[in-house]
Amino acid sequence: MSKVALVTGGSRGIGAATAYKLAEEGYSICINYRSDAVSAMRVVQKIQNKGKKAVAIKADISQEEDVICLFSLIDEQLGPISLLVNNAGMLLKQMSIETMDAERINQTFQTNVTGTFLCCREAVKRMSKKHHGEGGVIVNVSSVAARLGAPNEYIDYAASKGAVDTLTIGLAAEVAEHGIRVNGVRPGIIKTEMHASGGEPDRVNRVKEAVPMKRGGEPEEVAEAIIWLASEKSVYTTGSFIEVAGGR
Ligand code: NAP
Repeated sequence: MSKVALVTGGSRGIGAATAYKLAEEGYSICINYRSDAVSAMRVVQKIQNKGKKAVAIKADISQEEDVICLFSLIDEQLGPISLLVNNAGMLLKQMSIETMDAERINQTFQTNVTGTFLCCREAVKRMSKKHHGEGGVIVNVSSVAARLGAPNEYIDYAASKGAVDTLTIGLAAEVAEHGIRVNGVRPGIIKTEMHASGGEPDRVNRVKEAVPMKRGGEPEEVAEAIIWLASEKSVYTTGSFIEVAGGR
């Protein structure tokens, strides 16, 4: 099977950590990003410096035309995709439900849910043995928020990750006989820039006491679980989830 991976939102945080490890595993990698080309190119350069193949492609996964274009460009530049890491995700400023408007809720769902669906669709069309593909693996990056609900912070984000989990279960069953495995990883509180988007850059330090291990996680610790699910070592695992959350 070809070793071509797409990491959505690969320009920083968990996505970038995953891309570095996948390069070590011999994958050619597409780093997708939404707006920050400089960070995406930095990741690509670091991978290329180690003699591996990587390209950066800008695409907003919440936009159907962008996703179609993203996958066509990967076909052209890297060849048939064998691994999709649906990592791109977003959250908006912390608030309770009283002030949450439809625009905000839709924005969260359009990236975290619709975007993940669209990338799964394009990957399945290429990987499925039903369409003469070679099979493949999809790893969806969810969150323990799907289980905890993120009250008073972002229940829209938590609910969107709940939808990602249901997508993972359903799609895994739908495509198992066509040679595609679909699994999820649920990170806990991880040290990335995402918390700044929620309006609290130092959130990890505030919340870490609620984590049984009393610390936030590193992006690389989440990447390890993604790598295992991507590998042949997990060949009989589909429709499953790994929590990387320090016991939370
Ligand atoms: P991050 O540091 O904020 O990085 C997010 C990445 O996603 C960036 O590369 C960003 O690109 C990209 N992105 C956002 N919206 C996009 C869109 N519509 N289209 C394409 N790319 C988009 O995030 P992270 O903390 O590494 O999180 C990665 C994943 O883990 C997310 O799904 C998140 O929900 C999940 N997660 C994170 C935590 C945590 O504590 N950090 C916990 C649980 C789950 P640009 O910079 O170009 O916008």
